[in-house]
Amino acid sequence: MQIAANKVATIAYTLKDDTGSVIDQADKNEPFAFIHGVGNIIPGLESALEGKTAGDQVNVSIEPDQGYGERDDTLMQELTKDMFEGVEDISPGMQFHAQTNQGMSIVTVTQVEGDQVTIDGNHPLAGVTLNFDVDVLEVRDATEEELEHGHAHGAGGHQH
Ligand code: ZN
Repeated sequence: MQIAANKVATIAYTLKDDTGSVIDQADKNEPFAFIHGVGNIIPGLESALEGKTAGDQVNVSIEPDQGYGERDDTLMQELTKDMFEGVEDISPGMQFHAQTNQGMSIVTVTQVEGDQVTIDGNHPLAGVTLNFDVDVLEVRDATEEELEHGHAHGAGGHQH
């Protein structure tokens, strides 16, 4: 069976940036499952996997515009510490959920200087070229329930 719209694909993968550092991975023992064609994964990976079958290996380099987008410096913001009520020891690298004009998103603290806190609302992988090595492990039809929920169930998917 080929990966196509409304199929569930289970994959193992390694994701590296252009320097070869591993950003993320899922091995065969803890694979990742997604419904194809519904935006569960980034567009570049979705199109690279279209038509593949179990046993296929896919190596693909995905530019930011097909990944998590280009960096947008207007999403950097300077705040004062009193905006972080109840949070102790604000330090670079901390992440918070924040309401933005694009909905709920994750902001990362990039700098703390005295009372000034710089946050970055870009996705941590914005502007990064994504190099994927993917092993396609299984392809099957999505169940009605999975399509209703918009995500895969079972091994590598949502457990609920
Ligand atoms: Zn579900």
